[in-house]
Amino acid sequence: MSFSTDIKLPSKVVICEVAPRDGFQAEKEWIPTETKLEIIKKLATTGIQSMEITSFVHPRAIPQLKDAEEVVRQSQELTGIKFRALVPNAKGAQRAIDAGIKKLKLMLSASDSHSLSNANCLTKEAMDGFAPIIELADQRGVKVGGSISVAFGCPYEGIVPIERLNMIVERYIAYGIEEISLADSTGMANPRQVYNSVGQLRNNFPDMTFTMHLHNTRGMAISNAFAAMQQGIIYFDSSITGLGGCPYAPGATGNVATEDLVHTLSEMGIETGINLDTLINVAKDVRQLIGHDGGSYMLQAGPCSQLHVAPKEQLKLG
Ligand code: ZN
Repeated sequence: MSFSTDIKLPSKVVICEVAPRDGFQAEKEWIPTETKLEIIKKLATTGIQSMEITSFVHPRAIPQLKDAEEVVRQSQELTGIKFRALVPNAKGAQRAIDAGIKKLKLMLSASDSHSLSNANCLTKEAMDGFAPIIELADQRGVKVGGSISVAFGCPYEGIVPIERLNMIVERYIAYGIEEISLADSTGMANPRQVYNSVGQLRNNFPDMTFTMHLHNTRGMAISNAFAAMQQGIIYFDSSITGLGGCPYAPGATGNVATEDLVHTLSEMGIETGINLDTLINVAKDVRQLIGHDGGSYMLQAGPCSQLHVAPKEQLKLG
């Protein structure tokens, strides 16, 4: 038996920063619009190429994002970055497009129980509701991507069967969607499951672009990203300092921290176009501005490349 000495990994990965939506929406205390924009502008200096900057949900549902229009309008001055916003319904899509966003992300839950608690409708009903959004986006020349929340595990139903994912992806394809974000919203996926599910989806839908949206609730996000990369996935979402949660998933924490993901990738020689040092400095600023971080390893330990001065005397470690 012979052993391969290296693994199959992509040479380049594209990261979408989602803290301004996924992270901020989990913050109970109001973040002033200027602070949100300050963070978006800082993130724009790191080399990040795409950002999900807000969600056009009803302001009563998530008051933190009631300034969605203002955030989108004021972000327009930042060039060279692809911005997208999450839209839950046609009303939200109309608001988003009027504010000037060029890309919308649709949302639905893979399981009916999560869909009922999150959107007050069944998965199928959520998919039926996409028709007017897509029609509107087509008319206005705005791109639309799809997403599947709790794509691997639902906090109420457990593991999501692959047939369910196939059915949802087929429906997205029927709408002309070419990109779908697979969200492990509650951090229930494990690397083997991700490898298998993503492999099957890639086989079944070779023309679909899949993005991974991995929450680090149980510390498995980086391993799951690694498993997905081995299936050829190169698009990942992440959240600066690991900010985030899920209002309808008990105990859920944020997305994998952007600086932790970029660090892991850079240690493996995988290009992201993001400057890690700048990113870590931005993460420190974000922690300062928000008042806490979401469990970032980089903020705790720093990068591997930051070597320490060796002690002069031997340390007796028990
Ligand atoms: Zn999320």
